[in-house]
Amino acid sequence: MTADAAFTYDGGKVAPGERQNLRYRVSETYLGDPVRIPVTVINGERPGPTLYLSAAAHGDELNGIAVVRSVAYDWDLTDLAGTVVCLPVLNVPGFLTQQRYLPIYDRDLNRSFPGDPTSTSAKRMAHSIFRNFVEPCDLGIDFHTSTRGRTNTLHVRADVDRPAVSRLAHAFGASVVVDGEGSDGTLRGEATRAGVPTITVEMGEAHRFERSLIDEALAGVRSVFAEYGLDERGRVRWPGWRTVVTEKTWIRADAGGIVDMHYDRGEAVREGERVCTVTDPFKADGTPIRAPFTGVLLGVLENPVVYPGNPICHLAELDDSTARIVERRAADR
Ligand SMILES: [Zn+2]
Repeated sequence: MTADAAFTYDGGKVAPGERQNLRYRVSETYLGDPVRIPVTVINGERPGPTLYLSAAAHGDELNGIAVVRSVAYDWDLTDLAGTVVCLPVLNVPGFLTQQRYLPIYDRDLNRSFPGDPTSTSAKRMAHSIFRNFVEPCDLGIDFHTSTRGRTNTLHVRADVDRPAVSRLAHAFGASVVVDGEGSDGTLRGEATRAGVPTITVEMGEAHRFERSLIDEALAGVRSVFAEYGLDERGRVRWPGWRTVVTEKTWIRADAGGIVDMHYDRGEAVREGERVCTVTDPFKADGTPIRAPFTGVLLGVLENPVVYPGNPICHLAELDDSTARIVERRAADR
């Protein structure tokens, strides 16, 4: 859509210069009461692109909620050129029960896009969100965290083979961009394939507001505003170092036990170095786990206990010169 026109959705419209807070019905409870998601649409007086910001497609992933609400309610958007569609809590039933999936048959809302109005409850919800608030946009950012018991360093996931997505990923200004199409049914993958370039931002852990990550993500959104002219006052940021990752692996435990981590999320590890040690209760026979290649730790365990086969950390490959920059910056901190 062009932003010199109104933003329209089923049941309403938001004219240029207008802001609307709405609770949009996406389903009904067992009692027949509406299930409604909070939506804030801010349509600037001046024309520009339409950007959606969404969070909590997984109901316990809270960091993104703080990011989206901050843009909608703390930022001065009086000079906005374009439209921002804020969807701070996509999975309302999961949010209410503080769990990842929709409590109805444990369905993953983020495998249900673009949705279907005649299919499962999850796909009906997804359809209603997608048609009204995603499809009318020009680009989007979907915020996630790691699953419970693990934590992620802030990074972007994007299909960088698509120039429009690559531009958005670079504009956000994260150091690490993980390249990939996005699985079937994910908001990122389906929106991108439907012509709405979308990136995912992974940040931190579930069930938390982590201030430093939230601030970093807000700087990323400001940078996107600058790149696309939504706010010309800002500048596109350079994160200091950047890598586009194609090679990554989950390092898994081969023994059960208690895990001593030797590195934190976001740190560089050299090939062959000991990332962590899995120990028994007597701290006797520790099993060292070594990095299969030089990389940065995208995600690490928070709950330090494992069965054989459990993932311990998520390692993304770095070339030697980038690894050196990451090490130098860690030493400066
Ligand atoms: Zn998620």
